[in-house]
Amino acid sequence: MKSFYLIFLLILATAIAACGDPSENNAVSPDAAPELVGNEQVQGRGANKDNWWDALPRPEWSAFEKVEQSEDWFEVYRVDDDIYAIYEPGQFEEVISFLIIGEDFALMFDTGLGIGNIRIVVDQLTDLDVVVLNSHTHYDHIGGNHLFDTIYGTDLEYTRRRALGSLPEAVADFLQEGWVWKPFPQGFSKSAYRSRAFTISKIVGEGDQIDIGGRVLEILHTPGHAPDSICLIDRENRILFTGDSFYLAPLYTHIPGGSFADYASTAARLSGLAGSIDRALTSHNVPVVDGRYMTALGQAFADIQSGNANDYTISDGLREYQFDGFSVIVKEQQ
Ligand SMILES: [Zn+2]
Repeated sequence: MKSFYLIFLLILATAIAACGDPSENNAVSPDAAPELVGNEQVQGRGANKDNWWDALPRPEWSAFEKVEQSEDWFEVYRVDDDIYAIYEPGQFEEVISFLIIGEDFALMFDTGLGIGNIRIVVDQLTDLDVVVLNSHTHYDHIGGNHLFDTIYGTDLEYTRRRALGSLPEAVADFLQEGWVWKPFPQGFSKSAYRSRAFTISKIVGEGDQIDIGGRVLEILHTPGHAPDSICLIDRENRILFTGDSFYLAPLYTHIPGGSFADYASTAARLSGLAGSIDRALTSHNVPVVDGRYMTALGQAFADIQSGNANDYTISDGLREYQFDGFSVIVKEQQ
């Protein structure tokens, strides 16, 4: 059954590749929403956490050049000219941080779980000064912030609180039984693991443009997953960095700090950008997805809001709506 499914996906992927570059069709209709992957392949998250590592290695990574570096906890892939995905496949979150190298300085979009030392990896990829900007300040995205001197952050109470660091209890779940399959890096202490405090050097927000030299990244404030969620758009190269606002796995509207209403607005906004981007770079599981998923994201939230999304399961007061390649988890009572 499974091998049949994979062969089907392969044929589908080949057929889609044969259709040419999606950027040739600037007018993206809802009909063009991609059906690139199915949930069987991308899940192993959400409610079905057991043996999540069976989905590894995720085949999408094989499209990119793997970059050798010294830290076994991480895998590094070159996903585009001057863009590296720094991936942590050993832990259930499978978080991805991106190093974007400009002519003047480099931007780190997130710093991962803080289990391995991401600074050592970054120093092997660039000699330039590095600025950190977080897609949002959930603990799995800010773990290495304290290793860097220059950190841009949003002017929100939520961000300021996260910058203070955490007690070990706040991040203990990341290390729980069944969530980590790789050996921890040498010197890592489970009992001492916590989110370390960091200092925000500069306040940034909606509409700000960060010119790293040869590439301009514009900040979009996109709350819903977290109050301080942002996306970055590189309009010239038609790339959107989504953070946790979109990835190929369950999307969380229900967690503390999350807001279904805000997420729905964000989804509509990102959907409106579908014609302006070719690729979305996402922060969990798979680094690059077709930009047309933004259309599917907008449609998904619109369908949930209008009561037209009927493929869902209910457990523990949560509703998980299934869509092609992703799902959306919402509280039963909005
Ligand atoms: Zn998050």
